[in-house]
Amino acid sequence: MSLSRRAKEVSPSATLQITAAANRMVKEGKDVVAFGAGEPDFDTPEVIKQEAIKAIQSGFTKYTPTTGIVDLKDLISKKLKTENALDYPASSVVVSCGAKHSLYNIIQVLIDEGDEVLIPVPYWVSYPEMVKLAGGTPVFVQTKKENDFKIDVNALSQYLTKKTRILILNSPSNPCGVVYDRQDLEKIADFCVKNNIICISDEIYEKIVFDGFKPVSIASLNDKIKKLTVTVNGFSKSYAMTGWRLGYCVAEPEIVSAVSNLQDHSTSNPTSFVQKAAVMAFSLQDDYFNDICAKFQERRDYIIKRLDGLKEFLSYKKPDGAFYIFVNISKTGLDSFTFSKRLLEEALVAVIPGAPFGCDDYIRVSFATSMEKIKKGFDRIEEWIKKTQ
Ligand code: PMP
Ligand code: GLU
Repeated sequence: MSLSRRAKEVSPSATLQITAAANRMVKEGKDVVAFGAGEPDFDTPEVIKQEAIKAIQSGFTKYTPTTGIVDLKDLISKKLKTENALDYPASSVVVSCGAKHSLYNIIQVLIDEGDEVLIPVPYWVSYPEMVKLAGGTPVFVQTKKENDFKIDVNALSQYLTKKTRILILNSPSNPCGVVYDRQDLEKIADFCVKNNIICISDEIYEKIVFDGFKPVSIASLNDKIKKLTVTVNGFSKSYAMTGWRLGYCVAEPEIVSAVSNLQDHSTSNPTSFVQKAAVMAFSLQDDYFNDICAKFQERRDYIIKRLDGLKEFLSYKKPDGAFYIFVNISKTGLDSFTFSKRLLEEALVAVIPGAPFGCDDYIRVSFATSMEKIKKGFDRIEEWIKKTQ
């Protein structure tokens, strides 16, 4: 049997694999502290769950329009207008089975064989694989920790070729919590407009920001960049709905129509009653988000204190958003897989190696877990690192 070239080239998701391995160890009774999770530890809000149950019981269990139900698309359109200064009609929204699905669809409809996609390093593990699955070539744009891992727009042109089609922007970012401000985005927008590059703006962590940061949607800057941008968002991180699988994108009509056609022949609509539940998600008020941000910020601040006590071995960039901290391990002399494997086996702490994010001298620590576990995990990391180094 021979697999397709695409299937042979694609790697498994390190984030999903390592999280599953750590969960397996916990099930086997091992006292693992897991810092791998890419999902909020909070439960999905009760009102959302109840709405899904109501929808199932009332028989809302059949196919819906491929791109989503009107009520939901109307609310997404309204949200984008009031929160993101983005004016899109509901007909410009495509709801899919998670932001991952939205991103996959967009890349499929925009990339031909050999087209190049600019991906800032460190990147979320799935971007390069999605590009490869579409027959494209990921082009990695290096960033520096001293520059807060932000794209240096002046250096961007060195990556341009005749085949460059897309730039993927992720703010707040996974894995290092970079939040681009308006000025940064203006420069990136100018670059895209000048070179006719499409910007995929992955805004999945927009609600999880610290110290009063307010993320800006690049498409809101001006009409020219709006025409070139596909904005992606979803319910997983903001509403602790990772398992429900619901995300969306908005873009110009030509792209929307292509994504809709692709979805027609692949998944059809996202799950009917999940869409109803998502309608209810929009009823949650600022209090809800303020509360989750405060919890994540308290954890981030605690971790930073612990890392500051281990400066001999570890350094980091303070995250301004999302729920990960990207920790530099180069002083330990270990590569990221060896570090993570040994930390798991010898100290029962699970982290994600940085290599699949493009940085082998880093590990990713997720703080989507309780303070109690964070304290326990950092006690173990401290003891292990002092003993082994
Ligand atoms: N983008 C980024 C940067 C992510 O970390 C994730 C996490 N899974 C996603 C997109 C996809 O989220 P989901 O498919 O759960 O909506
Ligand atoms: N995005 C999350 C993470 O980076 C969830 C896992 C995944 O979909 O890759 O851990």
